[in-house]
Amino acid sequence: MAGAELIGKEEIKEVMDVLETGILMRYNFDKERNGVFKVREFEEAFAKYCGASYALGVTSGSSALKVALTALDVGPGDEVLVPAFTFLATYEAVMEVGAIPVMVDIDETLNLDPKEIEKKKTQYTKAVIPVHMCGSAANIDKIMEVARKNKLLVLEDNAQGCGASFQGKKLGSFGDMGIFSFDYVKTLTTGEGGMIITNNLDLYHRAEWYHDHGHDHNPKVGRGLEGRTILGFNYRMNELQGALGLAQLRKLDYIVAEQQKNKKIIKDALAQVQGMGFRHLPDPAGDSATFLAFNLPDEDKAQRFQNMLSAEGVDTVCYKRNAWHYVPNWEHFLARSTANSKKYPFTDPTYKGKVQYLRESIPQAEDILGRTLVMGLSVKMSPEKLNQIKKGIEQAAKNM
Ligand SMILES: *Cc1c(COP(=O)(O)O)cnc(C)c1O
Repeated sequence: MAGAELIGKEEIKEVMDVLETGILMRYNFDKERNGVFKVREFEEAFAKYCGASYALGVTSGSSALKVALTALDVGPGDEVLVPAFTFLATYEAVMEVGAIPVMVDIDETLNLDPKEIEKKKTQYTKAVIPVHMCGSAANIDKIMEVARKNKLLVLEDNAQGCGASFQGKKLGSFGDMGIFSFDYVKTLTTGEGGMIITNNLDLYHRAEWYHDHGHDHNPKVGRGLEGRTILGFNYRMNELQGALGLAQLRKLDYIVAEQQKNKKIIKDALAQVQGMGFRHLPDPAGDSATFLAFNLPDEDKAQRFQNMLSAEGVDTVCYKRNAWHYVPNWEHFLARSTANSKKYPFTDPTYKGKVQYLRESIPQAEDILGRTLVMGLSVKMSPEKLNQIKKGIEQAAKNM
């Protein structure tokens, strides 16, 4: 649960700053707002934290994906490579901009396998979206190398990996653009919210314009007189979200450090179990430790162990059987049931490819996710709670 566990006086103070001026909108009202620019301040602090040049706050992680894809000029006729293990939003965002998501396999990191890029790309492929699932990195250096070689754009979906890094560089800052989610269950929360980061000024401007009806945010004129070059929509973050984000960001290093401690205790207990394996972490020191993923030799053993743990009050998820994070389980997506009765973008005549979503095309995901169990971790885990989990693991192992 992370950031949501820590909402306290720091968040209250930041939010009160906003309520005292009454200016809830991030733009305009410069006289009335008394120097309070929470979203802008949050963006600056967030960019700095990530080592990125620019950051743009938006309404959600899902809209961050859509705004970023739009800035990258991904659209009708394009294919985008997306891992089979991710939250639905990554696929939805690709379809929202009129492009077609192509399902690719994962590796032992549980994230996009770099080898898949050359295997699954076609003449229509424009971009790849590595997703850093469950708080830990994909093989991002290799992914960047292969994507660059093949002239593909890279958008990192780092909705779940806020605060995580690879070899000292924050996840989200490797690709052309990176996105984050601050929904209620993410590492940091602003209730709902999201962020886009990039080092490219042109991409930043395109995102900034698109997310606010094309407004160029010229500080010299009033909002009504601002210029515009492209049409857009409204994905603006508001000042209350910005205020929450500022307070939460200051807690991020603490969140990660506490979760790493809790994770180590549980991982050490699991390591005693016969046949136990763990998710490959390309850089363990950079793990945000929001989840612990471990695996058994086969699916049957994993299911048995999950049931044994559950009987001891220890909950885990097997993502192969999860309804929201594994493409083969999305019956509405497989039926191409977009909200549009014409099934756009699948029926878009400018799309010349022949996408298919077959379980057989992702054998590694089928194998690895089938025998992997994932445990959600928290910042606040009492010694009693950790002990109960340790005892549960020991008991489950005895009963196997
Ligand atoms: C949560 C999540 C999103 C969407 O973020 P929201 O803020 O909930 O819209 C996108 N991708 C992944 C991997 C996520 O976990």
